[in-house]
Amino acid sequence: MRLGLIEGDGIGPEIVDATRRVVDEALSVVSADPVRWVPLPLGHKAIAEHGVPVPDFTLDQLEELPGWVMGPHDSASYPAQVRGKAPGAIIRKRFDLFANIRPARAFRGVRAVTPGMDLVIVRENSEGLYGDRNMYAGAGEFMPTPDVAMSVGVVTRTACERIAHMACRLAKDRRKRVTVVHKANVLTLTTGLFLNVCREVAQHYPDVAVDDEHVDAMAAHLVRRGDTFDVVVTENLFGDILSDLAGELSGSLGLAASLNCSENRAMAQAAHGAAPDIAGHNRANPTALMLSAAMLLRWLAEHGHGASLGLAAKRIEHSISETFAAGVATADLGGRASTSEFTERVLAQLRRL
Ligand code: NAD
Repeated sequence: MRLGLIEGDGIGPEIVDATRRVVDEALSVVSADPVRWVPLPLGHKAIAEHGVPVPDFTLDQLEELPGWVMGPHDSASYPAQVRGKAPGAIIRKRFDLFANIRPARAFRGVRAVTPGMDLVIVRENSEGLYGDRNMYAGAGEFMPTPDVAMSVGVVTRTACERIAHMACRLAKDRRKRVTVVHKANVLTLTTGLFLNVCREVAQHYPDVAVDDEHVDAMAAHLVRRGDTFDVVVTENLFGDILSDLAGELSGSLGLAASLNCSENRAMAQAAHGAAPDIAGHNRANPTALMLSAAMLLRWLAEHGHGASLGLAAKRIEHSISETFAAGVATADLGGRASTSEFTERVLAQLRRL
């Protein structure tokens, strides 16, 4: 199987390499065929080689692949003349990766604000207030004059339906609870439509219990009782913010995995950014991207690419858990392991299984 491998910027090359090694090892441990990685340029390297952060070459190659692992991009540091839309937005829009699945789970051995946290945020990824992707042409953010900035939010029944189905299907395999997060007391038409459609869709899943929360209250609930939620479905901006909060409450943003998917393609990409403040220092926590890659393997298994990929995903998750349980952690978690030391320990756990 061929999968794309995109290093990205900042800590990207460090955590992508660590993740590739862990995936290769996990596949070998379960005797699955090895992945043929397809390295593709994106970000600063692509600007240097192709003049743009997301070259057509990369997009054309991705078209041929069922999935890929992508490091974070540091779009805030791109030269103004090529900045434009963030690479993640271009790719999500081009491949209609409408669902962003972001688990937040605390691990034994990791200091967490909410030690019992085990939830999944299902974030609608194609519209809402994200002006870089919510229009067919043009952008949802614009300035009629230098002193007036405007933003248009988009919520469609179709997008709400498909993300609600995704959340309910996920809940069926978990603790069978979905919480719809919205702001229907103020954004009555847009997030009101989101809430109503989610409730309609949930009626097709009688074994799944549904409740809902306003997004501001949800932020407080996550801090106070983050361990009581199962699947949380919400629109784009709310999901982006709440998933960083949930990730940090579970221990660190460096644990925050994420899968972006459509019905036929998936992209493993950690929820965090390029962390330019620690890039190149061998200090980054590679866990979020490793767990994202495990999600990609499981998604591939569920989409007919071989059951052994699901087994490899389980092995990766288990090895990471065992590594934390043995007291090995990177600096963001209060530990002393470097990126490469942590990776070696995960690889050793994989070989031990
Ligand atoms: P960030 O997530 O990069 O960093 C926030 C803080 O968390 C920093 O202190 C950083 O050191 C720390 N951190 C993040 N990931 C870590 C990890 N794996 N291990 C240890 N510490 C980690 O957010 P930011 O500083 O707001 O953004 C930096 C750049 O990343 C910007 O250009 C932004 O646009 C971009 N960004 C990219 C993505 C993406 O590629 N999906 C997402 C968010 C931000």
